[in-house]
Amino acid sequence: MLNKQEILSLESLLQKGQVFTDVASLLSYELDAGVDRGMPDGVVLPHTAQDVARIVRWAGDHHVPLVGRGAGTGLSGGAVAEHGGLIVEFSRMNRVLDVDVYGRSAVVEPGLINLRLDEQVRAHGLYFPPDPASQRASTIGGNVSENSGGPHCFKYGVMTNYVTGMQVVLADGRVVQVGGRALDYPEYDFCGVLTGSEGMLALMTAINARLVRNPPGIQTMLAVFDSVEQAGIATSAVIAAGLIPATMEMMDQKIINIVEAWLHSGLLTEAAAMLIIEVDGYPESLDKQIEEVASILRSNGGHDLRVAASEEERNQIWLARKSAAGAIARLAPAHYTVDITVPRSRLTETLLEVNEICERYNLPVGHVFHAGDGNLHPLILIPDAQDEEYMQRVRDAGRETVEVAVRKDGSLSGEHGVGIEKRAFMSLMFNETELSAMLDIKHIFDPHNLFNPGKIFPSPSTGDGVRKSPETNVSAKPGKSEINYAPTTTEEAAQTLVACANAGQRVRRARGCAAYFSVASVINPSVP
Ligand SMILES: Cc1cc2nc3c(=O)[nH]c(=O)nc-3n(C[C@H](O)[C@H](O)[C@H](O)COP(=O)(O)OP(=O)(O)OC[C@H]3O[C@@H](n4cnc5c(N)ncnc54)[C@H](O)[C@@H]3O)c2cc1C
Repeated sequence: MLNKQEILSLESLLQKGQVFTDVASLLSYELDAGVDRGMPDGVVLPHTAQDVARIVRWAGDHHVPLVGRGAGTGLSGGAVAEHGGLIVEFSRMNRVLDVDVYGRSAVVEPGLINLRLDEQVRAHGLYFPPDPASQRASTIGGNVSENSGGPHCFKYGVMTNYVTGMQVVLADGRVVQVGGRALDYPEYDFCGVLTGSEGMLALMTAINARLVRNPPGIQTMLAVFDSVEQAGIATSAVIAAGLIPATMEMMDQKIINIVEAWLHSGLLTEAAAMLIIEVDGYPESLDKQIEEVASILRSNGGHDLRVAASEEERNQIWLARKSAAGAIARLAPAHYTVDITVPRSRLTETLLEVNEICERYNLPVGHVFHAGDGNLHPLILIPDAQDEEYMQRVRDAGRETVEVAVRKDGSLSGEHGVGIEKRAFMSLMFNETELSAMLDIKHIFDPHNLFNPGKIFPSPSTGDGVRKSPETNVSAKPGKSEINYAPTTTEEAAQTLVACANAGQRVRRARGCAAYFSVASVINPSVP
């Protein structure tokens, strides 16, 4: 926890309202969209790269860990301050700084929401293809840090294919530009190293994004299948034929029904599985492209093929696809999203094995994923995240699923990153030598382990120069030092939070509780 002196010295570097240390504010930074937790000691909201440089120097001097944060939609705990320290949240650095229409590039701040960039450049006839399903909320900084993908990455490639440069603040507070607007610079490929580095090497303060021409025509088609496995076979067949539609997304019946009950988008609820296939290019080419794909789908069990008749219908289909995770919240307060990638020829056998694992652990699972990339996302419903026995089954099933992917020459993470969630699995894919080579890079960029300590690498460590938080694992089960408490009004909850903050006590929010009932337990580290 930061002492009064430290808070004052940090505040003196910034303007009023840029630093928060009160428990009520910190609570909402305790987790991202995944299942791991950690309470930060403070949150800072920089306005400029110079603010970030001041924060980094201050943190270095005081040995306080720094955790970059975009929108907190990450699913692997990357933006969670599990060792305490400061969250550096980029929501106030959210501008498009420049769009070069002729050169087809943009310079943006890291806190810009992904969809805002795409909307702005479309007005110039341009297109920013990486479109994670979270694009209505997630930021470009978070997307670059996780090297995010999305439905259109099947044809267009993932984030790393659209980042040509970035301005970053290094661990000693230097502000440097790596890469730039051109596609190649005579330097090491720092930009490549930093993309996907999950906030562990530097903090990004601006990003050079590559744009492409807005496709002149698009057609979107739905195809129905009698089993998930059949849809997997059809996907592999399209790929084997060398066709590259813009998207190949799959939803199974469970997800179709959950989404349809909420959005009423006209999806066929009897369908065991559905593929969303989009083709783009010159308008004259679209019918031909669709027909080529359709004939492969039909000969592999696809039926009830339907092409969206209007832009509105197309938008409705994509809204349905990208709202799956939100719709699930109507059924269960939480879910665990598995993220694995396998070679696309092995999609069907993997789906079968994942279903078998979830059945064995008696876990309800739905599938919605980037089939064209071989990137599976089994969504396991969590009715009660406090049910430790259930959560252990979720973790065990998650691990077995990862093992399946690795055995099939796939990857333990397709796009959500390693963070806290998958670090224990890294040694399934990388040997000691490979891991230590990766760790060498971390040490060069960040010798005192200031940025996002403990993430990605299998043995969590708070690092040499970084102060250890007295209570590093706030996700621990309630111990005897924990007092359960349920306030009955908003005012009572607020007063309790203030009292706890003043007494230096930590507060842990119980999951699954609504509104003001969410403050359910008070942890008092001083109680023996
Ligand atoms: C419903 C839903 C759907 C999703 N769909 C997809 C999908 O289709 N594809 C996909 O790839 N992911 C998906 N995700 C995961 C998530 O949205 C992505 O990982 C996204 O890129 C995270 O962006 P964010 O702004 O929320 O970052 P955060 O979660 O805030 O942070 C993610 C990581 O980036 C680091 N970071 C953030 N900003 C900076 C910065 N300026 N400098 C240095 N490090 C920084 C953080 O430290 C952390 O390690 C989905 C998540 C949800 C909840």
